[in-house]
Amino acid sequence: MADGKGCKCAAYDESECGCDADWTPQEVYDLRESNARLLGLIADIRAAVGDPTGKLMQDELVEHCKQLRLNDDQREAILAGAVHLERELYALARKGDLGGERRELYTHAITLRDLLAKHK
Ligand SMILES: [Zn+2]
Repeated sequence: MADGKGCKCAAYDESECGCDADWTPQEVYDLRESNARLLGLIADIRAAVGDPTGKLMQDELVEHCKQLRLNDDQREAILAGAVHLERELYALARKGDLGGERRELYTHAITLRDLLAKHK
Protein backbone atom coordinates (compact mmCIF):
# COMPACT_ATOMS: atom_id res chain seq x y z
CA MET A 1 0.00 0.00 0.00
CA ALA A 2 1.37 3.37 -1.01
CA ASP A 3 1.09 6.79 0.65
CA GLY A 4 1.46 5.29 4.14
CA LYS A 5 -2.06 3.87 3.95
CA GLY A 6 -1.09 0.69 5.78
CA CYS A 7 0.49 2.61 8.68
CA LYS A 8 -0.42 1.10 12.03
CA CYS A 9 1.34 3.68 14.22
CA ALA A 10 -0.77 6.72 13.29
CA ALA A 11 2.26 8.56 11.83
CA TYR A 12 1.76 11.65 9.66
CA ASP A 13 4.72 10.88 7.42
CA GLU A 14 7.56 8.45 6.77
CA SER A 15 9.92 10.15 9.28
CA GLU A 16 7.50 9.50 12.17
CA CYS A 17 6.52 6.02 11.09
CA GLY A 18 7.89 3.05 13.01
CA CYS A 19 5.80 0.28 11.52
CA ASP A 20 7.48 -0.12 8.10
CA ALA A 21 4.44 1.07 6.17
CA ASP A 22 5.03 1.90 2.50
CA TRP A 23 5.20 5.69 2.14
CA THR A 24 6.04 5.63 -1.56
CA PRO A 25 3.64 8.04 -3.29
CA GLN A 26 0.96 6.23 -5.28
CA GLU A 27 1.95 8.43 -8.21
CA VAL A 28 5.37 6.71 -8.30
CA TYR A 29 3.69 3.31 -8.69
CA ASP A 30 1.31 4.71 -11.32
CA LEU A 31 4.21 6.22 -13.26
CA ARG A 32 6.21 2.98 -13.05
CA GLU A 33 3.24 1.06 -14.42
CA SER A 34 2.70 3.60 -17.17
CA ASN A 35 6.42 3.50 -17.98
CA ALA A 36 6.39 -0.29 -18.23
CA ARG A 37 3.34 -0.17 -20.51
CA LEU A 38 5.04 2.36 -22.79
CA LEU A 39 8.25 0.30 -22.91
CA GLY A 40 6.09 -2.69 -23.85
CA LEU A 41 4.45 -0.66 -26.58
CA ILE A 42 7.85 0.37 -27.98
CA ALA A 43 8.98 -3.27 -27.91
CA ASP A 44 5.81 -4.24 -29.82
CA ILE A 45 6.43 -1.47 -32.37
CA ARG A 46 10.07 -2.57 -32.78
CA ALA A 47 8.95 -6.14 -33.38
CA ALA A 48 6.28 -4.97 -35.84
CA VAL A 49 8.79 -3.00 -37.94
CA GLY A 50 11.44 -5.74 -37.97
CA ASP A 51 13.61 -4.85 -34.97
CA PRO A 52 12.46 -7.44 -32.42
CA THR A 53 15.76 -7.46 -30.49
CA GLY A 54 15.98 -3.68 -30.22
CA LYS A 55 19.22 -3.25 -32.20
CA LEU A 56 18.23 0.13 -33.64
CA MET A 57 18.95 3.25 -31.60
CA GLN A 58 15.83 5.34 -30.99
CA ASP A 59 16.63 7.90 -33.71
CA GLU A 60 17.39 5.04 -36.12
CA LEU A 61 14.07 3.42 -35.21
CA VAL A 62 12.22 6.64 -36.04
CA GLU A 63 14.10 6.90 -39.37
CA HIS A 64 13.29 3.27 -40.09
CA CYS A 65 9.57 3.93 -39.45
CA LYS A 66 9.69 6.93 -41.80
CA GLN A 67 11.15 4.68 -44.50
CA LEU A 68 8.31 2.21 -43.97
CA ARG A 69 5.86 5.06 -44.39
CA LEU A 70 7.46 5.97 -47.73
CA ASN A 71 6.99 2.36 -48.81
CA ASP A 72 3.22 2.91 -49.01
CA ASP A 73 3.68 3.62 -52.72
CA GLN A 74 5.50 0.35 -53.22
CA ARG A 75 2.77 -1.44 -51.30
CA GLU A 76 0.17 0.10 -53.62
CA ALA A 77 2.18 -1.08 -56.63
CA ILE A 78 2.30 -4.62 -55.25
CA LEU A 79 -1.45 -4.53 -54.57
CA ALA A 80 -2.09 -3.40 -58.15
CA GLY A 81 0.17 -6.22 -59.37
CA ALA A 82 -1.65 -8.79 -57.27
CA VAL A 83 -5.04 -7.60 -58.52
CA HIS A 84 -3.76 -7.71 -62.12
CA LEU A 85 -2.31 -11.21 -61.65
CA GLU A 86 -5.53 -12.42 -60.07
CA ARG A 87 -7.59 -11.07 -63.02
CA GLU A 88 -5.25 -12.62 -65.61
CA LEU A 89 -5.39 -15.98 -63.90
CA TYR A 90 -9.14 -15.71 -63.44
CA ALA A 91 -9.50 -15.08 -67.17
CA LEU A 92 -7.40 -18.17 -67.87
CA ALA A 93 -9.51 -20.16 -65.42
CA ARG A 94 -12.67 -19.16 -67.30
CA LYS A 95 -11.13 -20.51 -70.50
CA GLY A 96 -10.48 -23.77 -68.64
CA ASP A 97 -6.75 -23.16 -68.92
CA LEU A 98 -5.84 -23.21 -65.24
CA GLY A 99 -3.56 -26.14 -64.44
CA GLY A 100 -2.45 -27.04 -60.93
CA GLU A 101 0.48 -24.63 -60.91
CA ARG A 102 -1.54 -21.67 -62.17
CA ARG A 103 -4.38 -22.48 -59.80
CA GLU A 104 -1.87 -22.23 -56.97
CA LEU A 105 -0.65 -18.87 -58.29
CA TYR A 106 -4.26 -17.73 -58.48
CA THR A 107 -4.75 -18.65 -54.81
CA HIS A 108 -1.54 -16.80 -53.87
CA ALA A 109 -2.64 -13.73 -55.80
CA ILE A 110 -5.98 -13.64 -53.98
CA THR A 111 -4.27 -14.16 -50.62
CA LEU A 112 -1.79 -11.37 -51.37
CA ARG A 113 -4.53 -9.04 -52.58
CA ASP A 114 -6.66 -9.64 -49.46
CA LEU A 115 -3.66 -9.26 -47.16
CA LEU A 116 -2.63 -5.94 -48.74
CA ALA A 117 -6.21 -4.65 -48.80
CA LYS A 118 -6.62 -5.48 -45.11
CA HIS A 119 -3.49 -3.50 -44.12
CA LYS A 120 -4.37 -0.22 -45.78
ZN1 LIG B 1 3.54 3.56 10.76
